[in-house]
Amino acid sequence: MRDSNLPYGKQWLDDADIEAVVNVLKSDYLTTGPAIQKFEEKFSNYVGSKYSVAFSNGTAALHGACFAAGIGEGDEVITTPMTFAASANCVRYVGGTIVFADIDEKTYNIDPIEVEKKITAKTKAIIPVHFTGQPVDLDAIHQLANEFHLVVIEDAAHALGASYKGRKIGALSDMTMFSFHPVKHITTGEGGIISTNNEEYYQKLQQFRSHGITRDKDKMTKTEGAWYYDMQFLGYNYRMTDIQAALGVSQMLKLEGFVERRKEIVKQYNEAFADIDGIITPYQSTECDSSWHLYIIQLRLEKLKVTRKVIFDTLQNKNIGVNVHYIPVHKLSAYKNIGYNKEILPKAEALYEGIITLPLFPAMVEQDIKDVIKAVKEVIQYYSI
Ligand SMILES: *Cc1c(COP(=O)(O)O)cnc(C)c1O
Repeated sequence: MRDSNLPYGKQWLDDADIEAVVNVLKSDYLTTGPAIQKFEEKFSNYVGSKYSVAFSNGTAALHGACFAAGIGEGDEVITTPMTFAASANCVRYVGGTIVFADIDEKTYNIDPIEVEKKITAKTKAIIPVHFTGQPVDLDAIHQLANEFHLVVIEDAAHALGASYKGRKIGALSDMTMFSFHPVKHITTGEGGIISTNNEEYYQKLQQFRSHGITRDKDKMTKTEGAWYYDMQFLGYNYRMTDIQAALGVSQMLKLEGFVERRKEIVKQYNEAFADIDGIITPYQSTECDSSWHLYIIQLRLEKLKVTRKVIFDTLQNKNIGVNVHYIPVHKLSAYKNIGYNKEILPKAEALYEGIITLPLFPAMVEQDIKDVIKAVKEVIQYYSI
């Protein structure tokens, strides 16, 4: 058994990252200086978008996207229950109503057929989540968006480096959000970004992250002098610092390598688990390229003598840092308490009962991978019927 706990996810930082951060600390600008612009440009280049707007975190970025899309009271926005709470919370921040559509049991992503069933005259937007890094069926989502005049905000917190039918995630919908939390593909400590090709959204996002204030004379009807500024709507202080942005620039240089390493580990997991009857390995698309943020095994509970909890606890006791992604959002108290307790989303709820996330991050060494494989094989064999 391992003598130290292996986390499920973790950052990779090297000397170049540390130097990049230290250089900012020695410079004139700690926030909103040259590093922000450089990071945004680099990011846009990578995902192929015209614009990017960096935020203090991914959740703030989603809040900004909901604001820019004009979502407000009386509007409904559809998302998946199989996601982190932030994908839904952002709609509530702007006064909108979140509507959950069930998942596809094979890909675990939101099912466009279920989305269509939830569309009403009030529906304003869809927030598809590329769960685990596996791209959502964007063609079907965009078709619905065109037909019903909906805004599409992709939650790509898991999908930096992923491609949909040969096209990088990040410039395919109205707006796309990425997160730079340490467990994600690259990190800025905390951080997020919206990429977009739409200039109007771009302008709104920039202003939203800085109190709604502008100094741009073209946007104001008057000026009282060189000092003049106006606050044109209620915004927030959601700015990313230059310290974070410099780390982001440095991390971007390693992104492709990070994604490749994740794919290598996934390949080893898939091969090792292929002939184990008690588990279902993750969906592999032939047309899309997952960036593999998470590796989730689904237990075939009918083939096991014990519940997920026993398998989970056993792995944790073996120092394998397992996790569960996610508790369906409509099952959380802050949603149940506002009426979602009546909501039934059978596929997401069934999936939740049997999933376990295994450690997956580029800094894993070969022994870590072997330890995970050995522990999973042992526990599943031990508890198999
Ligand atoms: C991480 C994450 C977010 C939020 O990002 P933060 O940067 O942590 O605020 C949103 N959606 C999903 C699916 C995530 O995994």
